[in-house]
Amino acid sequence: MYSSQGYIQNTMHRGRVLIVDDDPLNLNILHHILRDDYDVFMANNGKQALSFCKKEEKPDLILLDVVMPGVNGLDVCKYLKSNETTADIPVIFITSQNTVEQENLCWIVGCTDFIPKPVNHLTLKHRVRTHLMMKRQAELLKKYAWVDGLTGVCNRRYFDDHFKKEWRRCMRSVAPLSLIMFDIDYFKSYNDTYGHLKGDTCLCRVAETIARRPQRAGDLTARYGGEEFAVILPETSLQGAVFLAQAIGEEVQALNISHSSSAVSKKVTLSAGVATVIPDKSAQPAHLIQYADAQLYRAKRNGRAQVCSALNERNFVYINSIPFTNHF
Ligand SMILES: [Mg+2]
Repeated sequence: MYSSQGYIQNTMHRGRVLIVDDDPLNLNILHHILRDDYDVFMANNGKQALSFCKKEEKPDLILLDVVMPGVNGLDVCKYLKSNETTADIPVIFITSQNTVEQENLCWIVGCTDFIPKPVNHLTLKHRVRTHLMMKRQAELLKKYAWVDGLTGVCNRRYFDDHFKKEWRRCMRSVAPLSLIMFDIDYFKSYNDTYGHLKGDTCLCRVAETIARRPQRAGDLTARYGGEEFAVILPETSLQGAVFLAQAIGEEVQALNISHSSSAVSKKVTLSAGVATVIPDKSAQPAHLIQYADAQLYRAKRNGRAQVCSALNERNFVYINSIPFTNHF
């Protein structure tokens, strides 16, 4: 649902339904019933279904046969539910086995619903529509819980969640995790001079400019506080993160937003603090936030409109400060 930039993508598409059955006749029947309303994909065994679900564009709903040679439907469902990226896809079993024991097994592996064979066309259509609608509503709720209402980038809640995940991922792969903290210089004076409405517009333009750059999987831009933005950059060196912070700072200056009450420039500028760690058990995610924050305050003390950085890796600290070249 979230793009790598941190913006919410439009999820209102036709709906992607994956049908899995070893019998070509059943596949044809189900395809025929649903093809006018949805994008329908078909797999004739469990292995094929699982590899389809590993793709970037996942199905929105799966209709799954229980008895299949090789990996059976129950195992497919169990695997999908145990995997973070596929756990939310509703699975409806299409089954001719209607004993209590079989039904219980379907629920135990995490199915959403089941439809008996032979399939009643109208029941199938209604069940698919209902479960897709419920999935969309759940996504919409998440979207509004995670997005910053003013700027459209991720909010602090989503940042905290994502940051912990990336911390654990980088710890497992022994990779550097970088964090940039941005602050709009003299933003309170900006609001006092131009009013809160223009202040909001300024926040939106700056957020959009920051979020345009970090585009790899795992990168995330969030509104951290009032006029503070944070960018999470997994598998990124300090040098890489400083380069990006510098480029973003210059792009914000190039927006040419007048700021007559700034003591550092005639335009809106950013101060930035950058820190990088290779996460290990001796540290907490909060430490990296503290390091980046300390650098942000250093950038402010040094006169603002600049990037300051520190690399803290196993008690080894490098400190660096780069002023923006064109802030006047
Ligand atoms: Mg079968």
